[in-house]
Amino acid sequence: MKTEFILQAAQAVNAAILSSESAIESLDREIGDGDHFINMKRGCATIVTMYDELASLSPDAALQKIGMKLLSTIGGASGPLIGSFFMAMAKTVKEQGAETLPQIAAVFAAGVEAIKNRGKADLGEKTMLDVLIPVSRTFTQLAAEGAERAPLLDALKREAETGMLATRDLIATKGRAAFLGERAIGHIDPGAKTSQVIIQTVCDLALG
Ligand code: ADP
Ligand code: MG
Repeated sequence: MKTEFILQAAQAVNAAILSSESAIESLDREIGDGDHFINMKRGCATIVTMYDELASLSPDAALQKIGMKLLSTIGGASGPLIGSFFMAMAKTVKEQGAETLPQIAAVFAAGVEAIKNRGKADLGEKTMLDVLIPVSRTFTQLAAEGAERAPLLDALKREAETGMLATRDLIATKGRAAFLGERAIGHIDPGAKTSQVIIQTVCDLALG
């Protein structure tokens, strides 16, 4: 993983989040407090403006800087979670590198583990983790099996979509939606939706 790829991904994600505005907005209005899109938009815009500053850094230093910045700019429940995702990825890139698919899978898994720890949440709680955990498991498994890059990335996109759609039928036990009890059923979780959009965008970029 090169810093150049991280910067391209930031730009592509920024564009993808902006074009998903209506979908994300309506979801957080239904089962949240309506700020998730604005929070993510602010985070993406900030990272895009850091292009020159990040370009001269190693991949791990760039990820660390992005994580620290997102922690303070996204806000809400998701800011600290996404910030710790990037900082844990940075640490793992530094420790073991991120050249091969198994290494990149391990980097992603470390990021997801940090979100689980920070948010004290797991699979099935109607959060972003319902996308991130299955994607990470599939990534680790397929990379270990020696899967080719293109089918692996396609599988990750499908897993993200399935996980996002599955949040519709869940009751939330974490975050603001937890206050709604059964009334949250029938609505996709906004954080799961943005996670799916981001994974799809980064996979498409990596597919070239
Ligand atoms: P807030 O809930 O403070 O308004 P956002 O609207 O930015 O923050 O983010 C809401 C999203 O954060 C939810 O849709 C959910 O996916 C995610 N989320 C909330 N709490 C947790 C948690 N404990 N663990 C993982 N994800 C969470
Ligand atoms: Mg919100």
